[in-house]
Amino acid sequence: MSQHRTIIEPFKIKVVEPLTILSRQEREPILKSAGYNLFLVSSSAVTFDFLTDSGTTAMSANQWAAMMVADESYAGSRSFAKFERVVRNLTGYENVIPTHQGRAAERLLFEAVLKPGMKVPSNNHFDTTRANIEHLGAEAVDLVIAEGRDPSLNHPFKGNIDTNALDLFCAKERAKIPFGMITITNNTGGGQPVSLENVREASRIYKKHGIPFIVDACRFAENAYLIKVREAAQTARSAREIAMEIFSLADGCMMSAKKDGLVNIGGFIALRDTTWVESLRSLLILTEGFPTYGGLAARDLEALAVGLEEVLDERYLEYRTAVTRYMAEGLNKAGIPTVQPPGAHAVYIDARAFLPHIPPHQFPGQSLACELFLSEGIRSCEIGSAMFGHYTDGGKDPKSFVPSQMELVRLAFPRRVYTQSHFDYILEGMVDLVSKRDAMRGMRLTYDPPFLRHFTARFEPLG
Ligand SMILES: *Cc1c(COP(=O)(O)O)cnc(C)c1O
Repeated sequence: MSQHRTIIEPFKIKVVEPLTILSRQEREPILKSAGYNLFLVSSSAVTFDFLTDSGTTAMSANQWAAMMVADESYAGSRSFAKFERVVRNLTGYENVIPTHQGRAAERLLFEAVLKPGMKVPSNNHFDTTRANIEHLGAEAVDLVIAEGRDPSLNHPFKGNIDTNALDLFCAKERAKIPFGMITITNNTGGGQPVSLENVREASRIYKKHGIPFIVDACRFAENAYLIKVREAAQTARSAREIAMEIFSLADGCMMSAKKDGLVNIGGFIALRDTTWVESLRSLLILTEGFPTYGGLAARDLEALAVGLEEVLDERYLEYRTAVTRYMAEGLNKAGIPTVQPPGAHAVYIDARAFLPHIPPHQFPGQSLACELFLSEGIRSCEIGSAMFGHYTDGGKDPKSFVPSQMELVRLAFPRRVYTQSHFDYILEGMVDLVSKRDAMRGMRLTYDPPFLRHFTARFEPLG
């Protein structure tokens, strides 16, 4: 082992993009005219864009090079053959169906298989997964372990599915379950990993009940690496071996390649047997495109074929998880509590614990997200009462406000985009932000849209 304690970025930079750095005085009118909603702020005013890790990856020189040799033939493209080979080698699944992103894979698979009244268990369904299941009149059932619902509790695998509950659920509802799922890492539950032991046990239960097992594999490499470093029996194995075992335990997967595919757009379904494949390909042709491109350009498939290999590089995964850990520890040291332990793709600040003087109906998370923008130029995402809270009386009496379970502010880190000095700069600024804590005030809604409030709502600071 080397003597160095610092985990460096395992890449050097060939292309750079200038970073906007505005003053607080310049940011104030921008935030005000966006109605204190960061979704309505132009990216050109943002210094550190931590809104999402989805589709925001910096691609490698090898990915850009592969794009130049792509074969854009409508049918039988050799770029598809390359992509198909990489997915088969990684997953062991013969049947590979490209889609333009994760939710397109979800819509196709669910449309081919789900009927109203059916039920689909998982640890936690991601929001587009749940929405696509419910859209077809079926039910998305979350069976994450109890530890996974407590933000301050430290447990290495808070993404685990409750295997006792799963076994009982499968026994009771067998006839209504066309397939079961597990999401790795568990995005909805704070990006928490699932242990290999848990995947093995879930696989055994699904098999026992004769239920096909589909993995939502968006962050399969990050999950595999967290298994390697947190699960005692797995430390000697490579992240690739662990990932391959996970796929071998299931019957297929869906993936948004905008995460661990290390690309800006793309996704796929891969299945071991052919039962659903014909109807999937027919639906694909109807709405996405021919089966050898599925709504993507061949150059996207080329970039993805390279990305799926690069993402399992353990130097990369060590650096990736170090960023998240470093930021969580730095924030905690500055006095800002975060969901414990940090996962791989994001840090979740516990705004309820940080701003206890702001009640949920005054949106402590939104308030903190706005302050992070004003003081640091950070764009984060509130995942709390601004997103999920609602009034039962139409918005008059604070007593009728039903808050979100947690008031979180997520900093999701794009892959290979920001450097150590960016993160150090941010942490330096947190001291100043913490000193303003008691002076921070809540927010009032000035425009409350009928659904998906967080995208278009407008706010106003109180006091
Ligand atoms: C992002 C994501 C999806 C949906 O993928 P898109 O590419 O955004 O359509 C599905 N499941 C999980 C776990 C995700 O993180």
